[in-house]
Amino acid sequence: MREWLLRTMVAGVMAAAMAASAHAITGEKAEFKKVADDVYAFIGKLNDANALVVVTSQGVVVVDTGNNPPETRLLQQFIRSVTAQPVRYVIITQNHGDHVGGTPLFVPPALVVVHERVAKDWATWKPHQIKSWRTRFRERVDALKNVHPLDQVVSFGDRMTLRLGGKTIELIYVDDLHNPGDIAVWLPESGVMHAGFVGYIDRHPDIRPDYSHGTTWGMLRQLDVFSALKPRVMIPAHGPLGDVKDLHALTDYLLLARKKVLAMLQQGLPLAEIVKQFHMNEYKGWDRESHFAWIAETLYRELQGMGPQLATLVEERLAGTITQVAQEGRRLTVRTDSGRELRLRITSDTDIAGAADRSVLKAGMKVSALYVVPQGANAALGFDVYELTVTP
Ligand SMILES: [Zn+2]
Repeated sequence: MREWLLRTMVAGVMAAAMAASAHAITGEKAEFKKVADDVYAFIGKLNDANALVVVTSQGVVVVDTGNNPPETRLLQQFIRSVTAQPVRYVIITQNHGDHVGGTPLFVPPALVVVHERVAKDWATWKPHQIKSWRTRFRERVDALKNVHPLDQVVSFGDRMTLRLGGKTIELIYVDDLHNPGDIAVWLPESGVMHAGFVGYIDRHPDIRPDYSHGTTWGMLRQLDVFSALKPRVMIPAHGPLGDVKDLHALTDYLLLARKKVLAMLQQGLPLAEIVKQFHMNEYKGWDRESHFAWIAETLYRELQGMGPQLATLVEERLAGTITQVAQEGRRLTVRTDSGRELRLRITSDTDIAGAADRSVLKAGMKVSALYVVPQGANAALGFDVYELTVTP
């Protein structure tokens, strides 16, 4: 009995240690770190999205824009602490809220530079997305009243070189059918790279069966091209700073993940069983084990040459009370007035009324929401919310 108790206690301590290491990898406060002359990395708190800042004599170039409005404002303050130059360009490495969401704080007058697939997507934005873009920063509401998100966009197809104030900034896109427009930003003079979506450190990749983040095959192609440049400093999309070794580490990770799912396919296992058995426990301590199910399902499709999972989105409405908030308002659990428990995803383009932004959402708040349910698909992280109103 005592031995059992001791073993249980040891296991408990180990599990607690692992849980701790599996969480925050970056610090509790965002940092602004000089990585070369006139080049700074914004390192998001607790693995929030990172950004890159290049200061030149003709203005500032910002790459990605922070997770939530408070982070974007902090990024703006950091920039002002090192230069009086205005932000002239905002480059977007991936078309996801935690990288794009802060754009309207700088644009206009800054121009936003995106891959043409991203520009194409922005051209299809729904009214709630445009409204959210215009009103996300209360200090910008007047300035953006008549601005369409596409108005300040410069887009490119393959590669683009930006020369500003004596600095060279290269934007690199590696084409494949499902790349949604993810790019890396490379500073050849200082050896600094923002590796965009494939820049991961100690974090399981967020790859999805609808290929909205591309495929592992496309990621491997990008990793080949980016690692050949041998970055001295690699700024990942999330997590602490790294270098070329971390690009190689993710290549190894993806090859192992593919091998595992391929072996299960060869045994004839059905999807549900593959999702159940799949793990990447070789990478214990990495952030976001919640991504396993989607990694497995994405590989299941990819390795059989299947296209992206296309799910019809059905709009539904709810009224209820928030019972749980995670990741600063990105994930909510809501008990509806009819007694259902629903998990919701508040994205950066959720149009929020009655609260400054998602980071101030709290358990106990009464809300109503317009959300979408993908038919026949696994909404592993919850249903996406288009409109959220916090009612008094
Ligand atoms: Zn991200």
